[in-house]
Amino acid sequence: MNIRKKKLAIIGNGMGTCRLLDELVQRNALDNYEITVFGEEKGGAYNRIQLGKVLAGEAPDSIVTKPPEWYDTHNIRLTHSTRVQKLDTLRRTVETADGHSRRFDVAVLATGSQPLVPPLDGMTGEDGELRAGVFVYRTIGDCLRMREYARSGDSAIVVGGGLLGLEAAKVLSDLGLHVTVIHVAQSLMNAQLDPAAGEMLERQIERCGIFVRTGRTVEAVYGEERASGVILDDGTALPADLVVLACGVRPRVDVARASGLPVNKGIVVNDTLATEVPGVYAFGECAEHQGKTYGIVAPVWEQAAVLADVLSGKGPQARYRGSKLYTRLKVAGVDVASMGSLEPELESDQVYQIIEERRNAYRKLIVRDGRLVGAMLVGNTLATANLVQLFDRGDPLPEDPLEALCQLRSTAATGDRIICNCHKVTAGQLGDAIANGADSVAAIGELTKAGTGCGSCKADITQLIALRKKSSPEPAAATG
Ligand SMILES: Cc1cc2nc3c(=O)[nH]c(=O)nc-3n(C[C@H](O)[C@H](O)[C@H](O)COP(=O)(O)OP(=O)(O)OC[C@H]3O[C@@H](n4cnc5c(N)ncnc54)[C@H](O)[C@@H]3O)c2cc1C
Repeated sequence: MNIRKKKLAIIGNGMGTCRLLDELVQRNALDNYEITVFGEEKGGAYNRIQLGKVLAGEAPDSIVTKPPEWYDTHNIRLTHSTRVQKLDTLRRTVETADGHSRRFDVAVLATGSQPLVPPLDGMTGEDGELRAGVFVYRTIGDCLRMREYARSGDSAIVVGGGLLGLEAAKVLSDLGLHVTVIHVAQSLMNAQLDPAAGEMLERQIERCGIFVRTGRTVEAVYGEERASGVILDDGTALPADLVVLACGVRPRVDVARASGLPVNKGIVVNDTLATEVPGVYAFGECAEHQGKTYGIVAPVWEQAAVLADVLSGKGPQARYRGSKLYTRLKVAGVDVASMGSLEPELESDQVYQIIEERRNAYRKLIVRDGRLVGAMLVGNTLATANLVQLFDRGDPLPEDPLEALCQLRSTAATGDRIICNCHKVTAGQLGDAIANGADSVAAIGELTKAGTGCGSCKADITQLIALRKKSSPEPAAATG
């Protein structure tokens, strides 16, 4: 029987859509849907987390995860370099900025976030666009523009000492620029780290040759046609050839607003990722679920799996209940992990800290009723997989909670311990891959996909390989 396929329109072709397409293909959803993806950026989807590589000079193709041929192979229509203006939810059409209109039965908004641009004096030119020399850091296009502009020996001011700002600062410093980070809070990465951890990170960042000014804001950008510096809130003028804004992001809700969908901070969705308008869904950084929006990729991927279950009919009861947040990153060469509370919240909460000044390592656990409610690690993140599991499942901690930080426990992980959270690959599966001859992170990635998402588990994979090699050394070559 020839069933009429439904037209599924996906707006936005970022990391969330890339994952949703994989999930839909896995569930044979293309038997029931004719899918069109509209992406404002040029080409196929890419791993935004690896943008630093492009800023550092690698070809954009090196971070592309779905080249246009992938869409062709799967009979998915990719309309790239095309901005969607709105959905006409009555006529059920997608309206693009270039005046085209395309019918849909089901639509998914995956429009992500946009960088926050603070309304500072001198930030924009007369045309309302960012002044020459002022950049944001969100897309391949942003990186190529920055690369084109920056010259070794230039000075750069990075506004914002969070993950993105520090990453941009490190890359620009490695390119030979004189870099200063201006951060409004008293310590770096204050959303993920307590002041002690933030200060330790700051010392390490400064060792890379980057200057850091915390507790300061930028009041204005000065210069003639192009930016030539910034004025700080204490009146200091800092000359700069480049100003990079990394002051946070906010959900992109312009299409949703123009389409009359309920929008708060983000596009309001329920546990099936549905908006109030029948047949219209939203997920990823643009969506708001139970009052929360997210700015890292793990929740976006959890949402993609639920949405694929619902849309494909393979798991109609699937529900998204929110995500427990943990981050694991390499910030300017320093390993950092953080999950849950930064500080004790109840009087009965116990705090365990290990500070190793010489090794520049800091580890902290917050324990409530024998369970982990928060952890942060700087400079020594070997125990992360162990802690994430304890935190995620709410498993009881050992009698001495510091044992949870023991390296061997984290690496000689039990078979079911998830090491790659992006692709849900367990220590057991990694062990099998290593036993089958995969002896590098890249080889393991090819076999299991582990390490190919956000990449934060690569250190664990390396460690597992080393452990496996140690426990089964190569037989010594026979000598005559
Ligand atoms: C430099 C950088 C480093 C990062 N590092 C990490 C990290 O280490 N770990 C981590 O977990 N997360 C990290 N993130 C965050 C991560 O990239 C995001 O969580 C993830 O990309 C969100 O996926 P998304 O699909 O919701 O949005 P996006 O990936 O932003 O995709 C949205 C897409 O929709 C398109 N779009 C928007 N509006 C329209 C329209 N009207 N018409 C057509 N297309 C439209 C946009 O152009 C974009 O391509 C990083 C982000 C950046 C920028």
